[in-house]
Amino acid sequence: MATEWVLLLLLAGCTAIVLRRAFVAAQRELTGFETETTLVSVDGAKSYPTREYVSELQGLAGRPDAIIVENGFFIPVERKPLAKKLRDRYVAQLLVYMRLIEEFEGKKPPYGYVILGSKARKLRIENSTERQEWLSEILKNMNESIRTGTATPDPQTDKCKKCDVNQSCNAFQQQIQ
Ligand code: SF4
Repeated sequence: MATEWVLLLLLAGCTAIVLRRAFVAAQRELTGFETETTLVSVDGAKSYPTREYVSELQGLAGRPDAIIVENGFFIPVERKPLAKKLRDRYVAQLLVYMRLIEEFEGKKPPYGYVILGSKARKLRIENSTERQEWLSEILKNMNESIRTGTATPDPQTDKCKKCDVNQSCNAFQQQIQ
């Protein structure tokens, strides 16, 4: 088991075993990637408990779709099954996970993975200083918008139902009351 590349476990709703097999097949077919990988966490899979990080220190929270271990590092993996191309927000999300993993697992991940589309195209995102500075700027602007009230939530029921934080989102909770 530990020798299988299991990123396709991120395909939500499938069992860990089915997903692992799917991944191995897709891995060979699509990427040829054969690196030994250990799975630590898969969101929604009983066999690999979800890791959710909440940092009061950083004011950040996140729950990666999966976490794997490569070369002794905890590596976050984010699956975007409907995406056709890499978007800045996917990169930002991964960079947040890497900050959280560094705080809670004690080691800075050197990179993370985004898995795009139905064919599971795997993109490696480096955790570079430049990218983290870019994220800091985004977070600064977001916090400033919240502080000044220049950005307010615009809940849309269909989207909000799928949102991971809808239980703690006041805007959504008020809308459905
Ligand atoms: S539930 Fe709240 S945070 Fe989530 S998408 Fe809707 S408005 Fe945004």
